[in-house]
Amino acid sequence: MGFEKFGTVSFTSESKASDFVNYLEQGKVMTTRCKKCGQGFFPPRMDCPKCLTSDVEWFEIKGTGKLVTRAVVNYGPSGFENDAPYTLAIGDFGELRVFGRLSKSLKEGEIRAGMSLNIVPTKSPDGRVAYEFQKV
Ligand SMILES: [Zn+2]
Repeated sequence: MGFEKFGTVSFTSESKASDFVNYLEQGKVMTTRCKKCGQGFFPPRMDCPKCLTSDVEWFEIKGTGKLVTRAVVNYGPSGFENDAPYTLAIGDFGELRVFGRLSKSLKEGEIRAGMSLNIVPTKSPDGRVAYEFQKV
C-alpha cells in the first residue's frame, strides 16, 4: 500500500513516505518533522537534509492556514490533462508551507492572498486519495 492510490497519476508504490497515503485514507493530512533539529517538511521526508538523520516523526497538519499565492493551470501536465483547469496554491500553516490544489468549489472572485484555508483530505469516486485547500 503506497503512492499508487495518490492523486490522479500512479506514483511508485514503494516509498519510505507511503504512510502519507495511508494517513490520507484515515482522513488526516500528515507530514514529517526532524526529531533532532525540529525542521518540518512538506511533502514528508524520511531523511533530514540538514542533520542527515532518519529520526523523523509524523504530525498532522491542522488548523487554519493562509493562502500565500496560487496559479491557475489551464493545460495540465501528463496525467493531469483531464483535470484542468485547476488552481495550485501554497498555504502557510505556520511551521511550514504546503503546496496543493485549491478546491474547485472556490469561485475566482473569492480567492484572495491571505485568505484563511483548511487542508482537507479528499477521495475520488475511483478511490484515489488526495488533499485540497478549502475556504474556512
Ligand atoms: Zn534535522
